[in-house]
Amino acid sequence: MSEIDHTGIRVSELFYSIQGEGLYVGVPSVFLRMFGCNFTCSGFSMPRGEISQERFDVDPDKYDEYKKLPLVHTGCDSYASWDPRFRHLSNWMTFDEIIHQMKELLPAGRFGRDKHLILTGGEPMLWQAKLPDLITSLDVNRMNAQSITIETNGTQLIDEKFKDKLRSRHEIVFSISSKLPSSGEPWEKAIKPEVIKSYINFMPNVKAYFKFVISHENDYKDVIKAVREYELGGVNIPVYLMPAGGTTLHYEENEKWVAELAMEHGWRYSPRVQVDIWKNSWGR
Ligand code: SF4
Repeated sequence: MSEIDHTGIRVSELFYSIQGEGLYVGVPSVFLRMFGCNFTCSGFSMPRGEISQERFDVDPDKYDEYKKLPLVHTGCDSYASWDPRFRHLSNWMTFDEIIHQMKELLPAGRFGRDKHLILTGGEPMLWQAKLPDLITSLDVNRMNAQSITIETNGTQLIDEKFKDKLRSRHEIVFSISSKLPSSGEPWEKAIKPEVIKSYINFMPNVKAYFKFVISHENDYKDVIKAVREYELGGVNIPVYLMPAGGTTLHYEENEKWVAELAMEHGWRYSPRVQVDIWKNSWGR
């Protein structure tokens, strides 16, 4: 993508909140949301086979900052982090600017055991050519970043330069949210065992898990199929089921039966704490 030809990263959001999902749920974290994604996931919360047009109802010219953007109820709820119509809301930031803002956000100006960094998007692995420099900047500035989670859709092979950088003292966690057919994305582009294999088993400090969003029984059947395909491809990592729901009502409808499915299958359950606390919104 053209973005990586410049110094720094095109940043959609940089904020301090609570990790609401997955392995480190509840841990205060800085979220660095990067612009750009290889998917659009326009099928979320739509009848199977149908595509949401809801984001096109949002007029980009009416907004000058993320926090004012309306939430959508169908399709990807992070639409402004990849839809080119909203690119003007995501500014280029140098690594110095990013570090400076992180210092201002964090208590005592540093990360720590219970203050993590989360790289998210969009799809942050599209920026992997830049991530070694980001990690170097964190170290040079003594930011004490002990644990870094990369929230990815699991479709981008890791390149050797980034892999080399991950052979470090940081704990690196790939939180892999593979997209099921309910996203509207084709199976063969979304379920990529060879990609996940490139993320795992090369250093003990690098961990990975799957996080599947469930809103319908069909999703559950698709998770079974996906996990089987990953296992056949040599990938056997923890699986979290997480109820869909960008809004409280939708979330509450899903959480109980998704928890029961996780118990039935011996998989893990992940809440979405950000929906409980903040009812979902930009910057949370
Ligand atoms: S992969 Fe994630 S950020 Fe990209 S379109 Fe899908 S849900 Fe949105």
